[in-house]
Amino acid sequence: MMIVMKAGATDAEIDAVVARVEGVGARAHVSRGEEVTLIGAIGDREKEARIQLDGHPGVAQVVPILKPYKLASLEMRRGEASVLDIAGAKVGGPHFALIAGPCTIETRDQTLQSAAAVKAAGATMFRGGAYKPRTSPYSFQGLGQEGLRLLQEAKEQTGLPVVTELMDARDLEPVLEVADVIQVGARNMQNYPLLAEIGRSGRPALIKRGLSSTLEELLMAAEYILKEGNESVMLCERGIRTFETAYRFTLDLMAVPVLKQMTHLPVIVDPSHAAGRRDLVGPLSLAAAAAGADGIIVEVHPEPDEAICDGPQALRTDEFAAYADQVRRAAELAGKVVPAAAPAR
Ligand code: PEP
Ligand code: MN
Repeated sequence: MMIVMKAGATDAEIDAVVARVEGVGARAHVSRGEEVTLIGAIGDREKEARIQLDGHPGVAQVVPILKPYKLASLEMRRGEASVLDIAGAKVGGPHFALIAGPCTIETRDQTLQSAAAVKAAGATMFRGGAYKPRTSPYSFQGLGQEGLRLLQEAKEQTGLPVVTELMDARDLEPVLEVADVIQVGARNMQNYPLLAEIGRSGRPALIKRGLSSTLEELLMAAEYILKEGNESVMLCERGIRTFETAYRFTLDLMAVPVLKQMTHLPVIVDPSHAAGRRDLVGPLSLAAAAAGADGIIVEVHPEPDEAICDGPQALRTDEFAAYADQVRRAAELAGKVVPAAAPAR
């Protein structure tokens, strides 16, 4: 259930409600808004039923949340979208994030060139994998810690926050040194211990929807992170498996407006992994932005033909500025504010 405190409820009143919630063995998640404080009381139904708050000082309203995902639910924020602040880059509500970079960190030149190009075109965050989930165990698995060092250099040169994937909780510490956002790959969406570790780290997270996962399963994955007190989670639609064989995955754009009816968390779209083909990335990105996505995460490479991983789907750095312009226009149509490209130097 969600407990809405009165505007002006005192700290002592809030603490008393938290004590009441914890007293029956449920967990209390306090979220202090500008006007009111909300307290999520999460436990099984029996525990929640024992929390008696009628007439409790400072309590305005008690709202039951019937969905299996509680902290992720739209009701938990009284219908208001969450805005995440990722080292100054906002995402959610009216704020659109353009996250771009190579699939994989390969070399220093490739990394720094990509980062400079996406920054100049107005990207708000830089992506790149140091640890790569590959279908074949014989494929290149990423540069690991060396890749993280290159990401750090890209961050220092551009000032862009870095999004990078964590596959194994044993790599959490080095990843935390550079990642402003920890990406959870589609294949790890249901790796619950990994999600809980990321939750405990407190670092913003981006969860990719699993290849065959329902939206409810995606929200339950987010719940694992939120439950640890980490409120900075964004969701990413990246294509699901269907019967269609004419393209790699089916980009489920209906997920964008539907998720927005289910959750307050920002919803972004990855057209690159859905399509697997560069020529589809533009139209899918426009459709996603126009559908109200809170951002796009897209792959870019200075020399896609030479890329070790995912070259066929990567946009070329020299075509990225024109692409970014179009995406910006589509996002603006949907009522988003998109930061403009940096003026050329
Ligand atoms: C990626 O973003 O590079 C990636 C591997 O994505 P996904 O987990 O969606 O396949
Ligand atoms: Mn990739």
